[in-house]
Amino acid sequence: MPKLTAKNYYSHETDWEYMSFSLYKDFKNCEAAALAKLNEDWQPTSSPTPLLVGNYIHSYFESPEAHQAWLDRTETGAKTNRELMMTKPTKTNPDGHLRAEFKLADQMIQTLKKDRFFNYVYMPGEKEVIVTGKIGGHEWKGKVDSLVLGKGYFCDLKTVDDIHKKHWNDENQLYTNFIEDRGYIMQAAIYKELIKQSFNKNCQPFIFAVSKQTPPDKSAFDFQGDTKFLMQEAIDEIKENQGRYWQIMNGEVAPKHCGKCEYCRLTKELSGFQHVTDIEVD
Ligand SMILES: [Zn+2]
Repeated sequence: MPKLTAKNYYSHETDWEYMSFSLYKDFKNCEAAALAKLNEDWQPTSSPTPLLVGNYIHSYFESPEAHQAWLDRTETGAKTNRELMMTKPTKTNPDGHLRAEFKLADQMIQTLKKDRFFNYVYMPGEKEVIVTGKIGGHEWKGKVDSLVLGKGYFCDLKTVDDIHKKHWNDENQLYTNFIEDRGYIMQAAIYKELIKQSFNKNCQPFIFAVSKQTPPDKSAFDFQGDTKFLMQEAIDEIKENQGRYWQIMNGEVAPKHCGKCEYCRLTKELSGFQHVTDIEVD
């Protein structure tokens, strides 16, 4: 089993050894797409900008050194992140200028930076802590944004379009908030469990969210009240579903195609008719 480091944490090599929140979510969305991604046969053509904005903000609050290192880093291709943040050079502006998304990211940073509560709760923690452990007999990995072991809590920092936007939940046929929609309750439950196994300490999760609005909105969330039950449900769900995902990774079971996602549309071949009344709508 390869030892997890900051360098190999996001590599597909370690994804074969450890389940993670994002890999689990990939499998839940579409098994065929998740496996193709793991095999490096296919990559979603998502816009890199939201990810860059997220990393830009995270590294800022990690440390000045981490932020500089991130700016100088070359993720893919020849350009550094610092270069990717600029618009194309023109005659009148040979250096280009900072893209609008990153001007906004600077505002998002400022709103958190000057917030006393954020400084008191998020900033003292150890940043980007890698945790591992077993859930339902399988190896898992996680990376915690800010861990304050001494006071028994951990925080994740999330960027979001609008904290109050509603999201349709097809499974339960109701609107939910972005935290439920993105599965962050499950992520908090996983991290809580991995922290307990890594450090032998029960920590409670918090989320700090900052929005991409002008001016940016911000909120701090705990997982008390009914959320506690939802966290337990999320762990139970993992224990029920992950066996199949591991079997798919081991080549023992063929992955199901969801039939609707980017990967499935790309690889689709018709084999007959379906009834008009059987079209799934959501
Ligand atoms: Zn699919």
